[in-house]
Amino acid sequence: SEVTNITNRLDSFLGSVNIIISGGGKGRSWKWKDMLRFPHISQCMELAKTLERDYYSLCVKQPIGRQLFRLFCQSKPELRHCNSLLDKMGEYEVKSDEEKRMSLSDLYPNVLHLALTLPSPICEGLCVLGIHLRLLCFYSDLHEYLSGAPFLQYQQSMYFDRFLQWKMVERQPVTKHIFRQYRLLGKGGFGEVWAFQARASGKMYACKKLEKTHVKKGKGEAMALNEKQILETLNSRFVVSLAYAYETKQSLCLVLTIMNGGDLRFHIYNMGTSGLEQDRVQFYAAEVCCGLHHLHQMNIVYRDLKPENILLDDNGHIRISDLGLAVTLSEGNLVRGRVGTLGYMAPEVIGNDYYGLSPDWWGLGCLVYEMTAGRSPFKRKGERLIGKEMERRIQEEEEEYGKIFSNETKDFCRLLLTKDPRDRLGCQGSGVYGIQSHPFFRTINFRRLEAGVIEPPFKPDPRAVYCQDVQDIDEFSTVKGVILERADNDFYIKFNTGSVAIPWQTEMIEMGCFKELNVFGPQGSRPPDLDW
Ligand code: ADP
Ligand code: MG
Ligand code: MG
Repeated sequence: SEVTNITNRLDSFLGSVNIIISGGGKGRSWKWKDMLRFPHISQCMELAKTLERDYYSLCVKQPIGRQLFRLFCQSKPELRHCNSLLDKMGEYEVKSDEEKRMSLSDLYPNVLHLALTLPSPICEGLCVLGIHLRLLCFYSDLHEYLSGAPFLQYQQSMYFDRFLQWKMVERQPVTKHIFRQYRLLGKGGFGEVWAFQARASGKMYACKKLEKTHVKKGKGEAMALNEKQILETLNSRFVVSLAYAYETKQSLCLVLTIMNGGDLRFHIYNMGTSGLEQDRVQFYAAEVCCGLHHLHQMNIVYRDLKPENILLDDNGHIRISDLGLAVTLSEGNLVRGRVGTLGYMAPEVIGNDYYGLSPDWWGLGCLVYEMTAGRSPFKRKGERLIGKEMERRIQEEEEEYGKIFSNETKDFCRLLLTKDPRDRLGCQGSGVYGIQSHPFFRTINFRRLEAGVIEPPFKPDPRAVYCQDVQDIDEFSTVKGVILERADNDFYIKFNTGSVAIPWQTEMIEMGCFKELNVFGPQGSRPPDLDW
């Protein structure tokens, strides 16, 4: 009715206002310090006993662990210089090649001096490659040193006690009360996706709700658990991150990186023109390529690459989302399964053959084609096709390239859309490097892209809503006649694991909670009571 319509609009308006206000650490609950209260150190003993003492995980990978380990190093005169070396190398890593050559003299005066006596092309190559390799060795030497005696000392220090306290806060049970709910973002197969805000820090997320009754009716348990378990092992700026998984009475909830800029499908077709400019095509393809590479390194095939599943954030970077069809290959094994979306499935998937990572590189070919031409490779604009005919074309027909394709783009798509996976670009010995070194990507510096320091060619308008009107999305209701039983609980328990370490710690740091709460007594002494 008219009234609910107005209420919905108002809700969604207030939602967006709140999203704007909440940037920069505002929008925290007034009770935020209580929500993040440290337990007394005596309450952390069980955790201290069971925590795996792995240097790399505790001091490099986990953001809060890393910060505390650095604070510890800073407190020891003999370790202080390690911090500045790590900083220097971090800065060096994200420099452009040009800047790198300039700053080499800073880091390695002797090596540079030697290299300069060689003829110039050799010298240049050596500088960039040789120094890069030496730095990598140096990096691992430094970490090897730190993982010895300094790491042992750290575990005896108040900084590690504080780490345990943060860990306890991280592991608090997660319920719906720790979030605020704002506007509806979209609808999926098992439920709705909503904009959420963590009350303690003010950080915005997208919450994908899976209605328990729908999951049960659609036998989606294994699929939901698979998606959750894959998401929690990933850590890439090119794939949505899972920050929390929890349950309510009605739903299972995945709390994910919020992507407000719409999906690529919308950008290809609904922005006035069909198709995107070449620099955007290259940029999105490069980021997708890095995301796929991350999945592939963990032996995961994504299997559902299509414009709808690539989402933009506020700044115009993209992430791969919807990992419902992804599957982990067991060591050296192939899988079989005709899954994916009609029109985007690779020939080997349609043919029900065994395959490894190859369908994803086919998918990248389809994506680049569609972003360029404004239509998918095996279907003309507006054409309606039955499934069988689409499958036949994919398996048998050569795709056509219009004038809009540059030579590199055409060559790149052709190589990726090779029917036989054994001959496809990306599936040979050189793997992803074969793809990244193709002339199509000649303007992309992948090292800087991976470091997140490249400015996207297009920034979404913060006032625009890049999706269909939420009013057009049907309501989700619970399925009648499906009864939830004790046995379903085993599955819910596996799903309901709460915060995920790296994203949760990132949230604390990014939103300023870490800095404000991580205070110690005067001059770094152990405060009389760690519980404040
Ligand atoms: P399903 O697996 O059921 O298809 P999706 O993960 O594709 O569910 O989510 C459904 C819709 O919700 C998407 O099409 C998109 O519009 C929206 N959505 C999903 N994830 C996010 C996100 N991280 N940020 C913003 N919107 C999202
Ligand atoms: Mg989807
Ligand atoms: Mg899905």
